[in-house]
Amino acid sequence: MTLAHKLAEERRARLAAQRLLEMKEAELFSANRKLGRHARALSDRIERTEAEVVNVRNENRQVKSDLSVAHQKIEIAERRLWHSIRTIQDGFAFFNADNEMVGANDAYLSIFDDLEDMKPGVTYPEMLLVLTDEGIIDTQDLSPAEWRATMLERWNEPNPKPRVVRFWNGLYAKLIDERGPDGDVVSLALNITDTIRYENQLKKARYQAEAASRAKSAFLANMSHEIRTPMNGIVGMADLLVETGLGEEQQLFVETIRNSGEALLTIINDVLDYSKIEAEKLQLRPTTFDFEQCIHEVMRLLQPSARDKGVALLVDYDLFLPTQLVGDPGRIRQILTNVIGNAVKFTTEGHVLISITGKSQNGVCDVHVTIQDTGIGIPEDKVGHIFGEFNQVEDEKNRQFEGTGLGLAITKRLIELMGGRIWVTSEEGAGTCFGFQVSLESDPADELEIVKPDIAKALVVDSGELTRGILEKQIALLGITCSSANSADDALAMLDEGFGLAVLDDLQGAMDGFDLARQMRAKRPDLPILLMTSNAGLAEADPARASVNAVLQKPVPRQILFRHLMSLGAPETKAPPHPKAPMFVHTRSAAPAPPPRPMIPNENSRRALRVLAAEDNKTNQLVFGKMLKSLDIELTFANNGIEAVELFQSIKPDVVFMDISMPKKDGKEATGNIRALEKESGAHVPIIAMTAHAMAGDQEAILAAGLDHYLTKPLKKSLVIEQIKAVQLEGVRPAVPDQLG
Ligand code: ADP
Repeated sequence: MTLAHKLAEERRARLAAQRLLEMKEAELFSANRKLGRHARALSDRIERTEAEVVNVRNENRQVKSDLSVAHQKIEIAERRLWHSIRTIQDGFAFFNADNEMVGANDAYLSIFDDLEDMKPGVTYPEMLLVLTDEGIIDTQDLSPAEWRATMLERWNEPNPKPRVVRFWNGLYAKLIDERGPDGDVVSLALNITDTIRYENQLKKARYQAEAASRAKSAFLANMSHEIRTPMNGIVGMADLLVETGLGEEQQLFVETIRNSGEALLTIINDVLDYSKIEAEKLQLRPTTFDFEQCIHEVMRLLQPSARDKGVALLVDYDLFLPTQLVGDPGRIRQILTNVIGNAVKFTTEGHVLISITGKSQNGVCDVHVTIQDTGIGIPEDKVGHIFGEFNQVEDEKNRQFEGTGLGLAITKRLIELMGGRIWVTSEEGAGTCFGFQVSLESDPADELEIVKPDIAKALVVDSGELTRGILEKQIALLGITCSSANSADDALAMLDEGFGLAVLDDLQGAMDGFDLARQMRAKRPDLPILLMTSNAGLAEADPARASVNAVLQKPVPRQILFRHLMSLGAPETKAPPHPKAPMFVHTRSAAPAPPPRPMIPNENSRRALRVLAAEDNKTNQLVFGKMLKSLDIELTFANNGIEAVELFQSIKPDVVFMDISMPKKDGKEATGNIRALEKESGAHVPIIAMTAHAMAGDQEAILAAGLDHYLTKPLKKSLVIEQIKAVQLEGVRPAVPDQLG
């Protein structure tokens, strides 16, 4: 091999090596660059990771601090809760679902008198055992085992009811336990000792008050009895004395005695009623009664004082309103007497108009009564107060009107007791209108059945527009055409218009009713004439009475008016009313008016009515005898219950008046004996109680003893006579000679 060759080879080798080196250098460079990139990426990731770690560390630190804050808060809340629970006076404890005490406040644990075991961990049944074994609880009527059993039974209920327990030292706790959904129980033991003591005090006070109220009622009952008995003598005797032909001055004195006596009785009754209402002792006694008749009875009572003042009393009873209603007639009469009595009392001229309207539906009658007067009225600022107790418009200094100031307070309470309401509107100097509403049961079958009379045209003569209006309405209901005249002259001028009837008012200005009747008769001798007057008693005694067919007391109840119209219109008889064809009938009536009595030619062929009166008090016998002096009766007195029964058998009375308090045998027992005697014969003689007892319950007791009716002393002559008039027997003369029937 040549040198050149060798050199060439060496050169080639060197070149190859150089190329290899270059190649390796390029590879190295590339590897280096890759490594650099990788290193950079790595360091970036490290940086990021480091930042994340810092973040996480920060968060961790935050969470830790939050947690400790939360812990602190929980601790504070728990501390406060326990502090509160500890500070409350009442016992508080928690139990878990296994009935173990988890915690309790000092008040709860103090009940156990520092007993070692009574602390959290104790179970409820163990606790009950300690309570009874240590005598901590007063198990009252139960044995310790029974008490524990009832307590445990209660504890296991899903919603235990509160229970009051009493401890040995007289303290009371009300246990209230609430079971949670997981079976835990929160138990409260409220200290109610003060409440129980207060309740006991209240009970005692109430008992004492009730005892005092009973004593007051008994006192009032006695007082009422004691006062009424002598009052019977005073009022009754004064009543009789008036009729004995006294001089004018004597008459005045006697009337003052009688009026004062009656005023005193009204006051006694008001006070009695008010105290009964106050004590919630007043009970209503509903019964079927005739509402219209009730109103007219009140009107009759008030008529004399209205008449004396020239005040007209008018009644407008809704023609289509039933009259048989169910209510307490005594109390309804009292309401009417109070309100209408006030209207008369506070009215010096004009009228008092009572309007009764209403709707009857499904057996219930919604009755509205308004009492409108033309009196002194009530000042606006006083209207709101008059229903209060002792509230009167007048003040003490200028009292002109008498009264207790209790009437409207009682009236309002009575109406409210009946579920109704009362109201008033008034204009001072112009008049007052009281209204009240009550819903009373009615009998739908009790509709008026009207039989039309045989009269085509009637003439109404009345100077009062209101009365004329009411009368025209009533007469028109019977299908009679009505014309009216407001003066006697007009009436006389109209006479040839072919009237079949004339109804006259006795106040015709210059000419009185009888004068007008006489003049009418002179022109039309066949014309039936009815005279309406506010003093029927006086008119009946007037020699001119013969100039009219009948005298009617104003205001005239529809029943009476219709009956007279019927009797006048009956074609077959023009004079006496016919008994078998009443003008209208109540198909169901508690006390229908007795039918007119048929005329029997020989009155003397009938015997007098026999009346037996049992009354031990001589003065009362005297009063009773004098009251009935004018009647055609045979009156016999019994001095006690035994005599009453004996006389009942011997004289066979048609009616008996029976005093209740009598020596030897009282009225109830005597009535019992009489009713027993009657069982054999099947007869039933009416027995009417006369008593000074006027308290609630007396009436029931008396009626339960077999008596039929009840009159309170002092007796009212008219009521006694009414009872006697009600007894109508065949073969017996009417007690009142002019008795209509
Ligand atoms: P009193 O026993 O005084 O009549 P009330 O309670 O019945 O007591 O009536 C209270 C007062 O209401 C009466 O004193 C009177 O001032 C007034 N008052 C009642 N009704 C009327 C009336 N119709 N007109 C005017 N004032 C009346």
